[in-house]
Amino acid sequence: MPVLTPCPGNHNNAWRHAEAERESTGIDHELQPAWGDPIHCTRCALRARSELADVPELLAAVWLESLHGTRPRSTGTIGRAPVATWPGEACRLLTDHIVGAMLTLEDDIRDLRRLQRRRPTAEGAAITSAVRFLSAHLDWALTDHPAAAEVHDRLSANPAAQIHSWHTAATRFTRRDTGVERYAAPCPRCDLLGLFRADGDDYIECRNVACGLLLTPAEYAAHTTALAASYAA
Ligand SMILES: [Zn+2]
Ligand SMILES: [Zn+2]
Repeated sequence: MPVLTPCPGNHNNAWRHAEAERESTGIDHELQPAWGDPIHCTRCALRARSELADVPELLAAVWLESLHGTRPRSTGTIGRAPVATWPGEACRLLTDHIVGAMLTLEDDIRDLRRLQRRRPTAEGAAITSAVRFLSAHLDWALTDHPAAAEVHDRLSANPAAQIHSWHTAATRFTRRDTGVERYAAPCPRCDLLGLFRADGDDYIECRNVACGLLLTPAEYAAHTTALAASYAA
């Protein structure tokens, strides 16, 4: 009989915590993990497949956001807009991040499986062919990729965790997740209009993937007060 391994998905975090606790303190628990089949559970594997299939459409929506997003004021009584960024910049950063990570994963799998190198193409064609390639190799990626058993988190190289992070970032960016509050002031660290808070979250998070700043509501309030004072001055 094959040895069962717990799925590396974050739905098993509570079980992993309880196991670590049991090892250090001896306190028993009654939690059961979801087992991998053989590495990821069926639910995580299905989710990775459907999230990957959504990527081209989500990237198109991110691109549309850059065309129709709110433009900063470039003229007016005071003259210059306080935010020295162009409206498409956050879209561009997010697109570069996702496309770059997809192509890196594709190259990585091609190397590991000794397949022919990818030919460089324009971005749109590269997105389409990367999604097609990754879908075709997804079962292998979720089972045999060197990072396939890595516990999912934001920085994990696990292909399923990566796909989930692209999907989440693009969904949040295009405001398709419900119960999300978008904040009007630019991020105090990166100056982009990327501050959001998801329903039930304690923190306000900058969703510029290159920044990721977390603010408490009190810190956000202090930031807006400081901003208002600087505009008045
Ligand atoms: Zn799972
Ligand atoms: Zn930021």
